[in-house]
Amino acid sequence: MRDPSLVHQPLGVEPPKGRLLPRNTVVPSCGKRLRAALLLGIGGWRLLEALGVQPEVCHLNEGHAAFAVLERARGFMQETGQPFEVALAVTRAGNLFTTHTAVAAGFDRFSPALIEHYLGGYAEQKLGISLRDLLALGRLDPNDPSESFNMAYLAIRGSGAVNGVSRLHGKVSRQLFEPMFARWPQDEIPVGHVTNGVHVPTWDSAPADDLWTDACGKDRWMGTTNTLERNIRSVSDAELWHFRTAASKALVEYTRERLSRQLTASGASPAVIDKANHLFDPNALTLGFARRFATYKRPNLLLHDPDRLLRLLTNPQRPVQLILAGKAHPADQAGQNLIREWTRFIGQPEARPHVVFLSDYDMLLTEHLVQGVDVWINTPRRPWEASGTSGMKVLVNGGINLSELDGWWAEAYTPEVGWALGDGREHGDDPAWDAAEADALYGLLEREVIPEFFKRDKSGIPSAWIRRMRESMARLTPLFSANRTVREYTEQHYLPAAAAYRERAANKGAIGQRIVNWRNTLEQKWAGLRFGEVRVDTRGEQRVFEVQVHLADLDPNAVRVELYANGVMGGVPLRQELTRVRQLASAPGVYVFTASVSAARPAADYTARVIPNRDGVAVPLEAAHILWQR
Ligand SMILES: *Cc1c(COP(=O)(O)O)cnc(C)c1O
Repeated sequence: MRDPSLVHQPLGVEPPKGRLLPRNTVVPSCGKRLRAALLLGIGGWRLLEALGVQPEVCHLNEGHAAFAVLERARGFMQETGQPFEVALAVTRAGNLFTTHTAVAAGFDRFSPALIEHYLGGYAEQKLGISLRDLLALGRLDPNDPSESFNMAYLAIRGSGAVNGVSRLHGKVSRQLFEPMFARWPQDEIPVGHVTNGVHVPTWDSAPADDLWTDACGKDRWMGTTNTLERNIRSVSDAELWHFRTAASKALVEYTRERLSRQLTASGASPAVIDKANHLFDPNALTLGFARRFATYKRPNLLLHDPDRLLRLLTNPQRPVQLILAGKAHPADQAGQNLIREWTRFIGQPEARPHVVFLSDYDMLLTEHLVQGVDVWINTPRRPWEASGTSGMKVLVNGGINLSELDGWWAEAYTPEVGWALGDGREHGDDPAWDAAEADALYGLLEREVIPEFFKRDKSGIPSAWIRRMRESMARLTPLFSANRTVREYTEQHYLPAAAAYRERAANKGAIGQRIVNWRNTLEQKWAGLRFGEVRVDTRGEQRVFEVQVHLADLDPNAVRVELYANGVMGGVPLRQELTRVRQLASAPGVYVFTASVSAARPAADYTARVIPNRDGVAVPLEAAHILWQR
């Protein structure tokens, strides 16, 4: 097949007059994905420029847009005449990179040949750097010519801060990016987290909007959300239950309608369509499970023991119904097979009244599901669900989550607000663990979820259920709303990033220039740094450390010397800065640093280290040198 990318010109190279590329040019595959990334990152930034928009902060969501950091730097070069290195040091302060995947395979990578084809000219003519230097921005080892170009690495090297999308995902990302920060302890890998949240007004039903308006006011999502938890708690059991029964009824009606449309479209007989119009029971417990059918989401965990699932659904005293929806990627054979497994299960006459699979999973379908289900089930393999957001969409509507302790649920779950699956550890794709979790999932449904829903007081209200639902609504809805997320991004990232960018950009990037000089000096002199004598004196409750460091002719203010001790029993590590007290008269370039720490821990627990130091510069993100005493 002819590669259509043959007709595309590399960036930064004027099209040759009269014809396209030389006939024998070989363009490697994956060109389309790279071209999309160029359009998004470089084209996106140019579009903003053309519109006269001059952002101080650029938030890169996922590595796809990472080329924007190059084009932003290029714009600064043009404006100020600074070289690329300085322009990047200035502009990166205004870039934030949010990573969204929990597996290394999720990062976009391109072959060096492809980067050369599309960006070789751009690097040399527009950025004034060699192809090798450009490739180094996307590599772990700049000296390995076979290493591919990783967009996440480019994004990290072009940003002033990096974050994951849940607390657990922050931790997983620190593991994934550890190789970029050799010899740094894992908890100091510079990736934080801002947990995702959902835009609540998009996902609440009209009756939920009314309920929340009565309790919390019409403007409840406009300002701080501090009073919502208290105010929504004041809604009575009876009101909440009435609200839920109406929601169940609406969802059953929607499901019937949608299913009969689905069946009509597929040419089903009138008898079958008529059955669909009477499917389900508004008084049954409704479980929802909708997501992309990717294997890590384990959409067939509920099917692990089909007979047990069938028994659980068909108990006449406690009827349960299950709505499934989802899509698999057309090329994902495993995902397609998971959908077929469900179709076979639903094909059984006993199962049919209790389970439906709705096709064309999209936001409209999600909206109806999250507004009507009683329980939202999510069964990913920890830690592969970076955040997950669908479970957040049920909160405002009074749905309750039953989910693996992964992504957002790992930090949201307490026993008062829902149900949890898993032991909070990682087990990979071990089939024995999948079986154990399937068993736990059935057990939870049989022993807790279903009985709690059907245990009614004398007014017919399931009071324990309502209590759990109220806690989930009150505690979690504000916490996992976009209000909280956007506020965190603004306070922790956007405002400081804008200020840092302005500071570095002032006077044509003067501070950026100094940062580059500082970093180049460190680079040249680091190999010459050494520890000298280390003395420890115990004085009463204190241990006094005196540490000699050979800095040669490096400015001692360019580094920071610290004592480091591992955390005790999983606690946070101790980091204590040492003060520079004098230079050895007998040995020029050797400085003495001292600090005292509590004598509670043995002296051998502590080790000294030297790290880069400069006000306003993120270490190790922008300078990853580290020298350990031992
Ligand atoms: C919310 C939503 C998702 C994301 O759900 P996850 O739980 O994060 O997988 C996917 N598709 C649609 C249509 C959605 O509405």
